[in-house]
Parts: sequence; C-alpha cells; structure tokens
Amino acid sequence: MTKAIPLSQIRRVPLAHLPTPLEDMPRLTLELAGPRILMKRDDQTGLAFGGNKTRKLEYFLAEALAQGTDTIVTLGAAQSNHVCQTAAAAAKLGLKAVLLLRGPKPDGVTGNILLDQLLGAELRWLPSGNYPLTDEVAEDTLTEIRRSGRKPYLVPFGGTNQLGIIGYIAAMEEFLGQLRDENLKAQRIVLAASSGGTQTGLVLGKKLFGYDGEIIGISVALPKEQLIAYMLALAQRTIARWGFEITATSEDFVVYDDYLGRGYGVMGTPEAEAIRLVAETEGILLDPVYTGRAMAGLIDLIRRGTFHRDETIVFWHTGGTPALFAYGQELANAP
Ligand SMILES: *Cc1c(COP(=O)(O)O)cnc(C)c1O
Repeated sequence: MTKAIPLSQIRRVPLAHLPTPLEDMPRLTLELAGPRILMKRDDQTGLAFGGNKTRKLEYFLAEALAQGTDTIVTLGAAQSNHVCQTAAAAAKLGLKAVLLLRGPKPDGVTGNILLDQLLGAELRWLPSGNYPLTDEVAEDTLTEIRRSGRKPYLVPFGGTNQLGIIGYIAAMEEFLGQLRDENLKAQRIVLAASSGGTQTGLVLGKKLFGYDGEIIGISVALPKEQLIAYMLALAQRTIARWGFEITATSEDFVVYDDYLGRGYGVMGTPEAEAIRLVAETEGILLDPVYTGRAMAGLIDLIRRGTFHRDETIVFWHTGGTPALFAYGQELANAP
C-alpha cells in the first residue's frame, strides 16, 4: 500500500480567488417557501469570468510549468467554459494556448468564443462529432506542435481526471471550514454535473474530511447510470493514484437526470425561469447550460416537497455566465 499523499504536497499554481464566498439567498428562499438556500460562489473564482474549471486548472498548470511547457492545448464545445478558463490561465502564466473547439464554427463571435479570442488563444475547429471529446482528438495537434520545436501540454476534456479533481477535493475542505467558521449546518449540496469531475471531487472530499451531508448532482448531459459509472471509475482511479485511505461505491453518487430536457446545451423554459428568478431575487446570474439547469432541478425538487423546510441547502454555483450572451435571443424570447 502506498501512503496517502497530503493534498498540500500536490503541486499547485494559485490562479483562483479562494475561498470563494458562501452566501445566504434570503429572497430566493422566501420566494420558493422551502429550505434555506445558500450559494457557494465558484462563479467568482476571479480568472476571466470565473467558474469551476479554475480550481482544476491550478493543478494542471502547475504540472505543465514543472514540465517546462510553453503551449497549453485543450478541447471542448464551441461555448466551452473550460476551454475559456484554460485560455485565461495560460495568458496569466505567459503560455500560448491552442484551443480545439467542436464545430461547426458558428457565425458571429459571442460569449466564450469572444473571450477566447480576447485572451490571445489560437482557435482551431474540429469536425462536429461525438461527445465527450477524448484525448485522441488532440493527437495530431500535439504532434504538430512538437515538430515545430515547442512543448505542448494537454489539459483533458472538462479538466476532469485524477489530477484536476484534486481542486474539488480541496474545495470541500474549504467549504467545511466556512461552515465551521460561520457556525452553519448544510444537509445538502446541489450542483450541475456534466463530465462529473466536480461532483466526484466533492464526494471524495466528503469522505476524506468527514462531511455528513448529501451531494446531489443534476445531470446536464448524460443519463444517470452512465454518469454514475463514469464518476465511480474516476473516483477509483483517483483513490489509487494518490493512495487515499477511503473506498467509493456507486451509492456515494446521487444523480437526478430528470432535467435533461431536449439535451445538452439546449435551453428550455425551466432553465430560463430559473435564470430569471435568481437574477430578480438575488442579483446573481446563472448560465443557460449548467447552473440554470441545476437550479431548475432544485426549484422543482423544492416545489415537490423533497426537502424539509428546516434544512439548509447549498447551491454550488459553478460559473458559465459568458454563455448567457450566446443564448441572448432565446432568453429574451422565453416566456
Ligand atoms: C464544466 C462545467 C460544469 C460541470 O463540471 P463537471 O466537472 O464537468 O461535471 C458545471 N458548470 C459549469 C458552468 C461548467 O462550465
């Protein structure tokens, strides 16, 4: 057995404003007449427009720097928040960024595509194809960059692997410190889950640091069984990689896949309603793809009476707000 590696010994480059605020949402709570709602503001991580990928990137970029990299390569959807935050991290550290975006290339430049360009990254368009994007998609690009005498480093799709999710294991420790300092109890955390890295990190952090609440992922893309299998495999790889003295089973992962609507990235009425409600009650912006859908799920669960009124629920805001502008017309027209 390998001895567990303390998180503080894993190489990390500070990029995010931490700790992110944990805020009360009194007007939203009143409006929904359900449990008390708090929000963990990972939309405020401080790099470009912020978001959950910054915590993961602190570990990837540290590894990249240690390897003497000069070019960061990553991949994602056209409006990928992960890709955009990677471009911002590369800019901050003086590295070149090559971004592989799933096509087709849209007309017009808005949302994260505009930001990618402003951040000085090189954008390349991939054929439209299946999701999630695997590392193989980047092979040719990496080879070409190496041939030109540069040293590329690939950040995986969504920043999700056994290194990136350390960011969310550490985030759980940060969160538990805030609960302690502010003398709060929170029975549940609700968050958007896509590649599952964020939820898996929080679940492993829960086990390592002893959080006794439930962590609920609202799937934005995958059916529940598939997402849970994916997260369990990732959890097991992570435990093995770092020698953590914990175990993970599928029971550790709570996922609702009732809110997929017309699929990943297709905004419907529930997301538009959730975005408006949180904006109008708390002055906080959600996004159409992830947090809008997760909040729509939370609103529905509260309306169905799933939670006791005396509970406290933390909505973990994972960012994504630049995509609001790419959905501007649809949002303006939503009922
Ligand atoms: C990537 C992303 C998520 C999902 O995180 P995973 O770790 O892939 O599950 C949630 N919200 C926003 C805004 C994101 O950009």
